[in-house]
Amino acid sequence: MSSQLPTRGHEYLQAQVRDFAERHVVPEIPAMEQSGSIQHGLSRAIAAQGWIGVTIPRRYGGMGMDHTAKTVIIEELSRVSGAMGAMVQASQLGVAGLVHFGNPLQKQTWLPRIARGEVLPTIAVTEPDSGGHVLGMAATAVRDGGDYVLNGTKCHVGNSEVGDLHKVVVRTGDGSRGLSAFLVEATRPGCRLGPHRRAMGLHGFGFGHISFEDCRVPAANLLGNEGDGLAVALSSSLLYGRPNLGAVALGIHQALVEATVAYAARLYRYGRPLYEIPVVKARIGEMRSRLDIARLALYDAVSRLDQGLPCDSQLINAKLVNAEYAVDSARAALEVHGAAGLFCDLDVERLVRDAFHILAPAGTSDIQRLRLAEDTLGIGKGEWSQRFGAPVDVQNLDAELDAEPAF
Ligand SMILES: Cc1cc2nc3c(=O)[nH]c(=O)nc-3n(C[C@H](O)[C@H](O)[C@H](O)COP(=O)(O)OP(=O)(O)OC[C@H]3O[C@@H](n4cnc5c(N)ncnc54)[C@H](O)[C@@H]3O)c2cc1C
Repeated sequence: MSSQLPTRGHEYLQAQVRDFAERHVVPEIPAMEQSGSIQHGLSRAIAAQGWIGVTIPRRYGGMGMDHTAKTVIIEELSRVSGAMGAMVQASQLGVAGLVHFGNPLQKQTWLPRIARGEVLPTIAVTEPDSGGHVLGMAATAVRDGGDYVLNGTKCHVGNSEVGDLHKVVVRTGDGSRGLSAFLVEATRPGCRLGPHRRAMGLHGFGFGHISFEDCRVPAANLLGNEGDGLAVALSSSLLYGRPNLGAVALGIHQALVEATVAYAARLYRYGRPLYEIPVVKARIGEMRSRLDIARLALYDAVSRLDQGLPCDSQLINAKLVNAEYAVDSARAALEVHGAAGLFCDLDVERLVRDAFHILAPAGTSDIQRLRLAEDTLGIGKGEWSQRFGAPVDVQNLDAELDAEPAF
């Protein structure tokens, strides 16, 4: 059931991540599930492998690899722990804005430290009163001499508790060109972390509140220009967030299939393995079909991205198909497990809960369908993927930024 990876380098990386995940992450899972607490030590240990910096160019100390490699890392970690896959994807999302919008000084200051795993970045866009409607955000930054002063609250920020450097998108003016992005160190006075809320799944990963109360940041921390905030948010979400979340879902999906196959082989009914019952066999066949389609959609989309081809709709579909199919297979897995699947000592219970966490981030399925419909109807707002790798020309983004309603 493994994907056909394009190079031996990708295959080597896959084996390396799988080995690390099985040796260092698997043993931590019972404690993660029981405590539900944030995995500071494990998150740092994973970051120290250099995987947050997989797409950071080598001249900044990164691995200098492509989106396919990023996908392999997230999928393999998520196969063992959706929480740790989500942790890595969230900080890789934080890297995106720096790579595409950072000035030379910002890149030189932060990218080598991120690549070494010393700094975990985040992206903070969502707010309690606007959700996926990015332009509805209310947090502000006001220029005051050589600084900007930030006020407002962000919610569901991936890695909120372990993040050292928040990429925060706030209002500096009106309308779609009135958003700006800032790099805010977690230690800055006025930057406050909300209390940890235990979620249904992804135990060990946090996506909490961060508030800014008269939080003063130097103007040098502005990412790109004033007005680039929506472009920073949307390009990070589309080019990194959607395939990344697709990869988390794919890893969980793979684990669901493996757990279900193992259970159906070891449980005996009517004197034979459970999988001998035709309905059970058919369910496993359906799970396999969904898994293969989801994997093809994801690796095709990131391969197009790596080749510089326009692929916004493929990235959107990859997120949609992977999130939806993982949830569909979670239900099938539970059904095959019968009552046993409801108990916390079997992996399937955790995998089912984790699968549901991938529906909302980087755009709900409703939003992905909306974007696909717009593309099909010829009323889409342009291709972010075509600008990947090239300096972003913000002057030409007006069409995309105008009237973009949601993540
Ligand atoms: C695990 C996880 C990690 C996350 N990580 C981050 C992060 O790192 N940074 C960050 O900023 N945010 C993050 N988020 C937040 C995520 O981006 C939001 O959950 C998402 O944008 C949707 O916002 P919402 O949950 O408030 O739902 P809402 O926007 O309130 O939507 C509620 C419902 O209304 C529907 N809806 C809303 N608008 C429309 C529309 N225009 N058309 C059709 N239907 C619509 C939605 O589909 C949904 O069903 C994360 C969320 C999760 C669960």
